[in-house]
Amino acid sequence: MARDHSHSPPRPDHPPPQTRHRFLDLALNELLIERGLYTEAELRDMIASIDSVDPSTHGARVVARSWIDADFRRRLLNDANAAIADIGMDPGTAQLRVLENTPETHNVVVCTLCSCYPRALLGRPPAWYRDREYRARVVREPRAVLAEFGLSLAEEQTVRVHDSTAELRFLVLPERPAGTGHLAESELAGLVTRDGMIGVAKR
Ligand code: FE
Repeated sequence: MARDHSHSPPRPDHPPPQTRHRFLDLALNELLIERGLYTEAELRDMIASIDSVDPSTHGARVVARSWIDADFRRRLLNDANAAIADIGMDPGTAQLRVLENTPETHNVVVCTLCSCYPRALLGRPPAWYRDREYRARVVREPRAVLAEFGLSLAEEQTVRVHDSTAELRFLVLPERPAGTGHLAESELAGLVTRDGMIGVAKR
């Protein structure tokens, strides 16, 4: 049965919003603002900057660049944080590893514990990424989960599942589609989706 990813699935392992954690969060924020560590305006700016990250203008740009620039691709796979900073983009504070899809290997990313995600490149994670069902099942039966996303992999292709942590985040580098030799970098970026960079879609 296909899953419907258009709505937030039930999350029995996540507390409802009005919890002790939410109150602690509010109280801590008030305290830090009162103590002058940051202002309310700075907090608003911080949230706005997180919300401004769009996979199509951030992660997809990195992927498209790597498709047209072999030297950048090599540096990206070797040291993603440095390579991304070199092109004037923010790779985020955690270590980032870029996982190259090939005809032999398909990579998919999860955070089995919570929702660690390359937010500087993909923005906020989708609801299903935080869902307990995805987190548990993609590890046990990745092919079945990918098929539910509409991605059927060849029998001989190896699937690698990568578990993110607070210190280490992953971005999947999809294969460049055939017949795109004439496209400019910005047009190539338009072919790359958030789901492709998580690894639940081909690109
Ligand atoms: Fe996490």
